[in-house]
Amino acid sequence: MTFAYRCPQCGTSYQISAELMLCPSCSRQQRPHRPLAGILETVLQPDGRDTQRYREMSPAALDPLELLPVGRQHFPAIPVGNTPLWQPERLRALYKKPHLYLKDDTANPTGSFKDRASFLVAAFARKYGLERVVVASTGNAASSMAGVGAAAGLEVVIFVPRNAPRAKLVQSLQCGAQVVAVDGSYDQASALSFDFVKSHGGLCRNTGYNPLTIEGKKTAALEIYRDLGGVPDYVFVPVGDGVILSGIYKGFEDLVTLGMAERVPTLIACQARGSDAISRAFTEGEFTDPRTPGTIADSISVGVPAAGVYAVRCLSRNNGRCVTVSDAEITAAQHSLAAGSGLFAEPAAAAAMAGFTSVADTLPRESRIVLLITGSGLKDIDAAAKGVEMPV
Ligand SMILES: *Cc1c(COP(=O)(O)O)cnc(C)c1O
Ligand SMILES: [Zn+2]
Repeated sequence: MTFAYRCPQCGTSYQISAELMLCPSCSRQQRPHRPLAGILETVLQPDGRDTQRYREMSPAALDPLELLPVGRQHFPAIPVGNTPLWQPERLRALYKKPHLYLKDDTANPTGSFKDRASFLVAAFARKYGLERVVVASTGNAASSMAGVGAAAGLEVVIFVPRNAPRAKLVQSLQCGAQVVAVDGSYDQASALSFDFVKSHGGLCRNTGYNPLTIEGKKTAALEIYRDLGGVPDYVFVPVGDGVILSGIYKGFEDLVTLGMAERVPTLIACQARGSDAISRAFTEGEFTDPRTPGTIADSISVGVPAAGVYAVRCLSRNNGRCVTVSDAEITAAQHSLAAGSGLFAEPAAAAAMAGFTSVADTLPRESRIVLLITGSGLKDIDAAAKGVEMPV
């Protein structure tokens, strides 16, 4: 199998390289305060033998690493992915959905889904002999890159808003990253990280901007397919920048390309009502001027979603849907998920549960439903404390 980058906007193919991030021609159409223009996707180029092998392969035999554009030998030893997909019996009974599953990505080494992208970026950096990775983040991408980078022996430089949850900052520092606390928003942290890469060099891991962030996140879809023995009917995905959603779509789409699956599941994008840019663009048909985001779910609090255009395209292509939930619903879902299954999720991850509870009645009883639980509740104890009564 060989791999290339392709721009879905203009259709141009490019050879994969460490310098190339956005489509050089389409990114020139970038407008201020709008999602990234010219996001590249990774395309699989199977030869005749690959095509036959995958068509005949049983789901259980699928090895997600084989479908990534960096060879196995470059990945660090840290065990990212292959997270549990399990059957929450009490939630199944409560919501009368006997085929409900939790994909527990809090079980990743640094406690969030972001490890999947960091893992591929770290492998890529090692393949190309780059020693430094730079990332701007609201918290999880930073602490993830710090942890996975530590395993890979990379120098990691992080730009985070200084009001990011403390646990994520401390985790990044513990993992030996150089942390720059930005007195400003995520957008400003992002601008600083680009300046830093320009002046000091390094591989930029900014979400959406680096095509490997979408590609790395597809492994969750491949694992769901492998562990279910097929494609589910619905996947609930918490959405901020839209990169996880795009990655999940891409994973299932690859399976269709390889002849292993016949369809992509219906993806349900779950957003906080105070940070609903993708949901609004999906309804209105375009991205308009950003609103200042405000939600308890810091990991999905995004004014201008980096992969917004790409994510909306994924949703439109496959009858995807958007659900928005209030902070009160997120806090309640965080508690009902933990108390009903034992899985303690951070607010952003609980948004998937909140989205599910708000539309559960409309889904057929026999459908196979997966909730993507993207981050651990231990990452933001202050937010979680709002959903319980502390003992005196
Ligand atoms: C980043 C993140 C998300 C959202 O992913 P996007 O790619 O920004 O849409 C959801 N949950 C958690 C825990 C995250 O860290
Ligand atoms: Zn292009």
